[in-house]
Amino acid sequence: KPKLWVLGNGQLGAMLKQAANPLAVDVEAVDIVNPSNEQLPIKPTDIITAEREMWPISETSKQLSEHPNFINRDIFALLADRYPQKSMLDRLNIATAPWQLVTDETNESGLHSALGDNVLLKRRTGGYDGKGQHWLRINDNPQIPDEWNNECIAEQGIPFDEEVSLVGVRLKNGRCVFYPLTLNHHQNGILMMSISSPPRLEHLQSKAEAMLSTIMNDLDYVGVMAMECFRVGDKLLVNELAPRVHNSGHWTQAGCAISQFELHVRAMMELPVPELKVNFQSAMVNLIGVDYDEHWLELPNAELYWYRKEVRSGRKVGHINLSVQDKDLSIGSLNKLKTMLPEHYQAPIDWLITEIN
Ligand code: ATP
Ligand code: MG
Ligand code: MG
Repeated sequence: KPKLWVLGNGQLGAMLKQAANPLAVDVEAVDIVNPSNEQLPIKPTDIITAEREMWPISETSKQLSEHPNFINRDIFALLADRYPQKSMLDRLNIATAPWQLVTDETNESGLHSALGDNVLLKRRTGGYDGKGQHWLRINDNPQIPDEWNNECIAEQGIPFDEEVSLVGVRLKNGRCVFYPLTLNHHQNGILMMSISSPPRLEHLQSKAEAMLSTIMNDLDYVGVMAMECFRVGDKLLVNELAPRVHNSGHWTQAGCAISQFELHVRAMMELPVPELKVNFQSAMVNLIGVDYDEHWLELPNAELYWYRKEVRSGRKVGHINLSVQDKDLSIGSLNKLKTMLPEHYQAPIDWLITEIN
């Protein structure tokens, strides 16, 4: 029976493995940061996927990335670099924040006249959780950092109403299936909270699905993809794409018959995928740089996922999913959770409570 190999063994790889287990699919998530460089027992019929867009080249990563069954092989490099990713969105006429490439010829005043008073530099590769960003705000007499030339793009700062994302799958036969839109709340560029589709987003669902279908079809992509968007009125601007399971889809572990992790496994192994059934609205609280606290387990509708990583400031070390069948119970849980988490969680949890109400 073919095995599914995952480039990377972080929390996403671990949750793919966990989701595959009940389907009797064996998943092997491979450490490519500290590779063993030993021969992996990969069979010609095995399937390879990745939990990240980029990886260091090593004997280990090559065994996986050069395997003929590495699904989406050429798409990772394209989406890992913001320059080809944004170029693709323009080519497909998909709305995105206006942008340009930063080269030796680029200067600050040129960027401001092209993109406006607030310009966000984003490193082309390697950025995550808002790392690799640099704001140029016209009143601060901004400078492009020297070492950012030829390494970044510049984007117009978007005064968005809110951030939403769409997680969906494209199967090998071209069929696309989607979860409802997720509403996301960030703090300093890092995702803090998500909640699945509040009713006010319903009218944007088909528009979002059309956008992500266009992208996945153009790439001939197979598997789960996430599309992060800014909502500006009734418009959606694509912020960025992730060719993998995504943090804003973690709530599907609580709210859906098939989680995003199981969905990706099914797509990789060419198993049946029915219409996606959402059982209840669900929310997710990211655990960032906080120590494990047994008290979280006292909350009746909370489902803890702890990643067993060393706790460091700003690092994602786990998440808590909460299903929202019962509003009062959920708000009660969130109010208790507030007392268990540090100060900077108070405002984001209040945001979540407001969304549930
Ligand atoms: P991720 O962890 O999602 O991969 P990242 O480091 O790749 O994050 P982005 O998702 O591009 O970075 O940006 C992080 C956050 O910064 C966004 O969710 C949004 O809150 C803010 N942001 C990004 N681009 C813009 C923009 N053009 N205008 C205003 N805010 C922005
Ligand atoms: Mg990103
Ligand atoms: Mg992002």
